[in-house]
Formats: sequence, structure tokens, C-alpha cells
Amino acid sequence: MKIESVRTHLLDHKLEAAFESASMRFDRRQHCLVEITCDDGTTGWGECLGPAGPNAAVVAAYAPALVGRDPLETERLWLDLYHLLRDQGQRGLTVTALSGIDIALWDIKGKHFGVPVSTLLGGRFREEIAAYATGGFRCVGGDRIADLAAETSGYVAEGFHAVKIKIGFDLAEDLTAIAAVREAIGPETRLMIDANHGYDALEAIQLGRKAERYEIDWFEEPVLPERLEPYLAVRAGQPIPVAGGETWHGRYGMREPLARQAVDILQPDICGTGGFSEMRRIADMAALAGTRLVPHVWGTGVALAASLQFLAALPPDPPRPAALDPILEFDRTRNPFRQAILTQPLDHVAGKVAVPNAPGLGIEIDRAALAEFALRG
Ligand code: CA
Repeated sequence: MKIESVRTHLLDHKLEAAFESASMRFDRRQHCLVEITCDDGTTGWGECLGPAGPNAAVVAAYAPALVGRDPLETERLWLDLYHLLRDQGQRGLTVTALSGIDIALWDIKGKHFGVPVSTLLGGRFREEIAAYATGGFRCVGGDRIADLAAETSGYVAEGFHAVKIKIGFDLAEDLTAIAAVREAIGPETRLMIDANHGYDALEAIQLGRKAERYEIDWFEEPVLPERLEPYLAVRAGQPIPVAGGETWHGRYGMREPLARQAVDILQPDICGTGGFSEMRRIADMAALAGTRLVPHVWGTGVALAASLQFLAALPPDPPRPAALDPILEFDRTRNPFRQAILTQPLDHVAGKVAVPNAPGLGIEIDRAALAEFALRG
């Protein structure tokens, strides 16, 4: 079997209502899928985290090095591509683009051997994954506090047992928002807060101390990701567990945060940190450091399927009869093509998502939906 072609699909939807985190405003949803086709007709799908057009450009730069190669040699291909742009790469788009390619290659490998990727990774520890609802962005032009209360109580009514909201805008308003959400979701639902690196260390420490009484599971990306000292200060200076890692790419990007214990919870994204090949290594590194792993997920059904396959095969740590199971980030913000591109949506039932059983990622792509949401112009 040889790789015949590598192409990208850029999906686009202009949002009816814009929303924002502390670091980004979303007027459109755009995501980049990777499709790799082999000479025997096998097709694999992957997805790249981050801006669609730039990711597609880097995938195109990698493509000539893939054509004619054996798609089953995932490790050799990963190293060859990484080395191709190593001198100007190492993190960022060179790794997010490589992630989409690696995921597509593992999809091909699973289809070739007739097993889901979770089997290739060593087998499943679980058949379904508890999901937490990601939302709680600030709607542009809305009433933030009232919107948040309505949105998050809706997730609880849908059956979710955990929700995550966005903070990092303004300390006083963020605390009002957290209080309103805790009131809306009741005492039993787990609550996480994500500042999208909108605070400096002193603000984050203040926020964490004042928000402790609302029983927060974790405080995500409190400060800028490039600076580890503020991360350490936040971890030491306030009582809520600190999470981060969605912008740290690859094993080298994870090494220092893990060695210095900068976070309680590491959040690599399989579509950003190097695909299945690198995610396996990062999971081992996190286990060595004794740091909990909760992958970041933000994208289409392809990203969701890849994350589910990975989470199914993630060993329980520590092992015990009723083990602490991993949790899936489940984006609930507006994105009409997220599930539409799958012939069978990966939806939740009472806050849990079943791991697909079919070979590879376990999904089939709806080409009519790809065409409908294709970026024009
Ligand atoms: Ca986040």
C-alpha cells in the first residue's frame, strides 16, 4: 500500500452571533481536515487544530514527502515530516499540520487491519467517556451573566454532569459570572473555569482565592503559556488545581511544564500536539510526572473521534476497582458542521459519549456536508 494523495478540506461557517473568549473573537467557525488516499482506495481522515488556511498550507508543504510512501509506517513518516521543518518549526503550525496528517495515517492503519485505533494503541479500558460541556463564552452584544446562567443550566438539563465556562475578561465580572453559574447548575455539577490566558499572575491568584468557595474542578490557562514562572506562582498562590497545555506542542513543549510541575492537569490536543504518535509519548511523560491528563478538544467530529479513540486506550491511573476515568471535552458552542460532516453523529447520552467501534477512527465522512460547508473563494 502506498500513499497516492494528500489533500485538505477547509470548512467554514459565518456565525449568526459572534462570541469571544479572553484571547479570541469568533465570527466564523473554520476548521481544516486532512484526507489521505492510498493506491488501494483506503482513505484516512485527520484534523489540524488552529487556523484552517495556514494549516492547509503547511499540510501542502508536507504532502510531497508523503506521496509514494507506506502509510503504515507512522513513526518513520512522523519523524521525516518533523525533521523537514524542524529548523523553523518545533511547535505551532508545523506540529498542528503534522497532527492532522498523523491522525489520518492512524485512521488508514486501523482500516487496513480492520480494527479501531484504540485497539492499535493497545486496547480499550472503557467503551464510553464521560463528557463535560464546553461553552460559557461571552456572546457579543449579550447580557453575559444572564446568558451564562441560562446556557449552563441548559447543559445540566441535557444530562451533563460537568461544565466549563470562560473567564479572563475582568476580575470582578468574572467572579459574578462564576457565582451565577454555580447557582444555576446547582451544587452537584462539576464546574471548570478557563481564562484563555487573560490574566496576569496576581489577578489569577486573586481570582483563584475568591473563586475557591464555588468548588471549581480546575482553573485552565490562567496566564500566558510561554511563561512558566507565572504558572508556578498561580499554582502555589491559590487553591484551585491549575490546568493547561493546549498550546504546548509535542514532547519538547511538554517536557518543561511537566518537569517543573507547572500544572496539576495537562491538556494536550491530539490535533495540535502531534497526533496519536506524539500523544502516546506525552501520555507516558505525564504519567511519569504524576500529572493528570485531560485532553483539549476543539474541532469537528474528526477531532472528537480521534480524542475518543485515544481516551478509550488511556490506562487508568492509578488502577483500582472503580478507577478514575478520563473526561472528554465536548464543545457545545455553535458549529453547524461539527457533527454534520459525519454520517453518524458522535453525540452524548446523559453526558456520556460512546467510543466508535468501526475500524480506524470509527467514523464515515459525509461528502455532501463537506461540500456544503467548504470555504469559498
Ligand atoms: Ca481552553
